[in-house]
Amino acid sequence: MSGPASLARRLARPEILALPPTDTAAAAAAGGAPIGRSIKLDANENPFAPLVGGGLAASVNRYPEPQPAALRQRLADLYGCAPTQLWATRGSDDAIDLLIRTFCRPGEDSIVIVEPTFTAYAQFARLQGAKVVAARLTEDLQFDCDAVIAACAEARPKLLFLCTPNNPTGTPVEPAEVRRIAAALPDTLVIADEAYIEFSDTPSMVAEVGGNLVVLRTLSKAYGLAGARVGCLIADPEIIEVASRASPPYPLPSLSVAATLDALAAERMPLHTERIARLVADRDMLAERLRAVAEIRSIRTGGNFLFLEVADPAGLAQRLASAGIRLRFRPNAAPGGVRVTVGTEMENAAMLAVFGLAEAVRPSRRAEIVRDTKETRIAVAVDLDRTEPRRIDTGIGFYDHMLDQVAAHGGFALTLACSGDLEIDPHHSIEDIALALGAALKVALGDKRGIGRFGFALPMDEVRAEVLIDLSGRPFSKFEGSFDTPDVGGLPTQMVPHIFRSLADSMGAAIHVKVEGDNDHHKVEGCFKAFGRALRMGLAIEGRGDALPSTKGVL
Ligand SMILES: *Cc1c(COP(=O)(O)O)cnc(C)c1O
Repeated sequence: MSGPASLARRLARPEILALPPTDTAAAAAAGGAPIGRSIKLDANENPFAPLVGGGLAASVNRYPEPQPAALRQRLADLYGCAPTQLWATRGSDDAIDLLIRTFCRPGEDSIVIVEPTFTAYAQFARLQGAKVVAARLTEDLQFDCDAVIAACAEARPKLLFLCTPNNPTGTPVEPAEVRRIAAALPDTLVIADEAYIEFSDTPSMVAEVGGNLVVLRTLSKAYGLAGARVGCLIADPEIIEVASRASPPYPLPSLSVAATLDALAAERMPLHTERIARLVADRDMLAERLRAVAEIRSIRTGGNFLFLEVADPAGLAQRLASAGIRLRFRPNAAPGGVRVTVGTEMENAAMLAVFGLAEAVRPSRRAEIVRDTKETRIAVAVDLDRTEPRRIDTGIGFYDHMLDQVAAHGGFALTLACSGDLEIDPHHSIEDIALALGAALKVALGDKRGIGRFGFALPMDEVRAEVLIDLSGRPFSKFEGSFDTPDVGGLPTQMVPHIFRSLADSMGAAIHVKVEGDNDHHKVEGCFKAFGRALRMGLAIEGRGDALPSTKGVL
C-alpha cells in the first residue's frame, strides 16, 4: 500500500522502515485475547485467573490485543474518522513520543514548537536526540501563522507541533491557519494536538486529516480518564502503518481498555456532554469574577483552564500553600504566568478566596449515578441548584416526557440516559431508572440541611392529582388510584405506582400519591407533575438554609 514516494516513507527514519510491518490482526491472534475456544499455549502467559477482585480484572493474565478492535472502533466513532486512520496510544504523550521516534533521526532531524507551549514535545525530542527549534507566540500571546511558517522554512523540520488550544495560554490555532501551514510545508508533518479541543469553540481538524496533517486526541482531559492513559494518533493510514512499527507490542493495558469502553458507553455520553458544558461555563464565570482582582494583570481562557498573569507570583505561591491549593506557575510562558484548572464548585470557591473573592458557598447539591445490571445500564446526573440542562433518554418516549415534567416542575437539572432490554419488556428500564433517579436525588440532597417536607395537589382538566413527600430517610410508598387502559404512550400504567415505590425506596422518602379522574393520560401526567411540584418544595433551600426540618436534628 505504501509506494516509495509516499510522504510517510520519505520522512520516516530508515531504521524504522527496516523493521517488519506490524500486522495487528496477526498479533491479536498470537498474543491477544483467546480467539474463540482455542487453547492458548503460545504466549507464556499464566493460565490462572488473576487474584484481583472485581469483574474488570477478569482476563489480565492474558496479554491484551495490541490495538483492541473495539477500542479503535469506539475512538474512531467518537472522533469521526476511520479505524485505519487511528492508532491508540498510552495517552497522547505516548503518541508524541511515537511520532518523534518514528520520524526523527538522532543528531540530524528537528521538530518545531511554538513557545510557550506544552513541555513534552521538546522533552521527547531531546530524548531522541532530535533538535528543537522554537517559534513563538506574539508578545500578547497570539498565534502568528507567518512566524511559524518562516521558522519552519529555515529549520525544515520533520514535525511541527501546534497545540490548539494551547497549553498553557489557551490560544487556539484556527482551522484556516492549520490548513495554510500544512499547505505551505508539504515535507513536514503538521501535528495538531487537540488535547483540550472539547472545551474550545475552535473546531477539530480530525475530518481533514490526511496528507501531512496529523491530529492527537486524549481521553485524559474531557473524559476524566487521565489515570487510564488512553489517547490516540489520527493520520493518513500510511503514517499510521509506519508509526505502528515503532510501537511497543502491547501498549494498552486491558484494565484501561475496559475502563475506557465502559466510560464511553452510549448512555454515559450525555453526562460527558453535561460535564464539559459545565466546566466551560464555570471557566467563563471564574474569568469574569477574577477580572475584578487588581493583582491579576491579564486573564486568558481556553481548554479547562485559565491562564493568569499576576503581579506577585511569590506572594501568591505563599497564600496558595497556606490554603493547600496547587496551581501551575509558568514563569517561562509569561512573567507571573500561572495556569488554573477549573475544579468543582467548592474547589473553585477555595481558589477565588485566595484572590480575596470570599463568599459563603454551599456544597454543590449535584450527584452522578451510574447503575449497571445485566438488564439495564443507566447514567444519571442531577443538580438541585440549577434548572438546566434537562436531557432525558430512557428509550421510552412518554417516560422521557414524564421525567422531564418531574425535573421541570421540580426545578432541577436532570441528565439521564439508559441502555435497557426494551426488546424484552420496558419493565426493567422503567423500574431501574426510577431507582437510579431516586438514588441520585438522595445523594444530591446530602445532609438535607435546609430542606422541608411538602406536598402538592394539582388539577389537570377533570383530573386531580396529589403528592405528599416526606424526605425522612424512611422509605414508604402509597398509591391511591387506578387506570382503565393498560398503556399510555408505551408506558404500562401498572408501572406507575411501581415507579413511585422505586423512587421512595431509593430516595429514602415517604411518597403518597392520590389520583382521580377519567383520562388515563391526564392522570399519569398529573401524578408526575404533582410529584415534581412537591419535590420542588421539598428540595428548596429555605431561609438561612442550615436548619434541619426535624426536631430530632437528623433526617
Ligand atoms: C495533558 C496534555 C497532553 C497529554 O495527555 P495524555 O493523553 O494524558 O498523555 C497532551 N498534550 C497537551 C497539550 C496536554 O496538555
